[in-house]
Amino acid sequence: MTQWNEECDVLVVGSGGGGVTGAYTAAREGLSVILVEATDKFGGTTAYSGGGGVWFPCNPALQRAGTDDTIEDALEYYHSVVGDRTPRELQDAYVRGGAPLIEYLEQDENLKFEMLPWPDYFGKAPKARLDGQRHTMPSVLPVSEAPELREVVRGPLDADRLGTPAPDDYFIGGRALIARFLKAIEKYPDATLQRSSPLVELVVEGDAVVGGIVERDGERVAIRARKGVLLAAGGFEGNDELRQKYGVPGVARDTMGPSANLGKAHQAGIAVGADTDLMEQAWWSPGMTHPDGRSAFALWFTAGIFVNQDGKRFVNESAPYDRLGRDIIAQLEDGSATLPYWMVYDHKEGERPPVNATNVSMVETEKYVEAGLWHTGDTLEELAAKIGVPAENLVATVARFNEMAGKGVDEDFGRGDEAYDRAFSNGEPPLVTIDQGPYHAAAFGISDLGTKGGLRTDTAARVLDKSGNPIPGLYAAGNTMAAPSGTVYPGGGNPIGTSMLFGHLAVKDMVG
Ligand code: FAD
Repeated sequence: MTQWNEECDVLVVGSGGGGVTGAYTAAREGLSVILVEATDKFGGTTAYSGGGGVWFPCNPALQRAGTDDTIEDALEYYHSVVGDRTPRELQDAYVRGGAPLIEYLEQDENLKFEMLPWPDYFGKAPKARLDGQRHTMPSVLPVSEAPELREVVRGPLDADRLGTPAPDDYFIGGRALIARFLKAIEKYPDATLQRSSPLVELVVEGDAVVGGIVERDGERVAIRARKGVLLAAGGFEGNDELRQKYGVPGVARDTMGPSANLGKAHQAGIAVGADTDLMEQAWWSPGMTHPDGRSAFALWFTAGIFVNQDGKRFVNESAPYDRLGRDIIAQLEDGSATLPYWMVYDHKEGERPPVNATNVSMVETEKYVEAGLWHTGDTLEELAAKIGVPAENLVATVARFNEMAGKGVDEDFGRGDEAYDRAFSNGEPPLVTIDQGPYHAAAFGISDLGTKGGLRTDTAARVLDKSGNPIPGLYAAGNTMAAPSGTVYPGGGNPIGTSMLFGHLAVKDMVG
């Protein structure tokens, strides 16, 4: 028999969106809860998100903003883009569950949300919401309302990657979401949040999961969970061995996930018989390569084109980042593109690439130049020689692009055909001629926002075994579960939305 060191009703593993929502729900429903977080900061990848957006159609924040969307329309959209790769009932649970969750959360004075319009990622699918009215973000929180959390909440990304201080004015986006939940949880005495306490194993008695083993200060601590264990420990994007084993394209160096997202919770679940699905999947994006050698999630390209090793365009550069990432990966796999590929642009806005959201800030230009990542030529021919692509191809590619930009229609790759493509260019197709030298090129790779394959669950977030039966006492949410969205990213806010909702549903199931 296990010698328990600590006891609670609910053990939550991880402190991203799913972890804090699960812990909050448990505390509010009168259960005692222990949340264990592997690192010395709360928030995970969720806290890195600049928007902290959630895709929860028809939720109260959207209703307040006057949306005329319906759940039926949202379901039709979601079903059409996800297809039958994941169980229909899991898809429905996600689409239907967001609105009641926001209603539940907003009853707490600490938890406030508002609309952030962001177009759906498949603009031509039936019932796509092109005005972005399915997307919601947490309201900002002045740091003065929770100064003790400033150093405790992870991020922003620049703090972790560039050593810049955490902002002292506002918690924004994912940091606001985490800080708001931590504030909301604070008032419940039976909620304990423990940092630097990774879960390493689950404890099983009979056929049920009854607790977990956590490493703390070099000791193994056994925590009994009377009602259940919620695994909300993010993906395994930081673990190259697991990436290789499951065939996830890309490498840990280029992921956006924090260092502890190593898949230990996945492995603990698998060790007690959990079934898995979608293990080769991630939320993808192009990555701008920085002098530290890491390619980081970049979006919102206001000009420029991508060219491959042949000096030819090969994708719609303004497509939603996951679709773009998948497109690029497919071409890397069939050999029609190689790394790096290049963003080619002119000098209209200076020498820095026209990327408005790099997520990790650009550092000094010289550092990119010294690292061989950015090149400049007075002519396209000179630039082509520097990046090693055939000059005649690059000249022809740019001429063709300029011709299409003049017409305002990308006949080759459909750039600007969908609302998302135009969201960052005042509604116009983002087709800006490349004609004002000197000419520049910036190296790009592939990044991801985390893996999205994991433990298979039912609609109550109960983890299923290989026969499809729930493993008593074991639940999973977010990137630790096999995502309901399968092999697509239907719209901004799906990852955090999935994490929060299934964290909540798991605990509601434990409450019974
Ligand atoms: P995480 O938020 O990564 O949390 C997992 C936590 O578990 C971490 O704190 C980790 O340290 C901890 N952990 C890991 N292993 C263990 C262990 N063994 N024991 C204990 N703890 C452990 N998605 C959206 O939906 N909307 C957005 O607006 C959005 N914007 C983004 C912007 C950026 C710049 C990035 C990088 C990502 C963005 N994403 C967005 C993606 C999204 O942030 C993640 O996919 C999502 O937050 C994952 O949530 P999670 O709860 O599953 O995991």
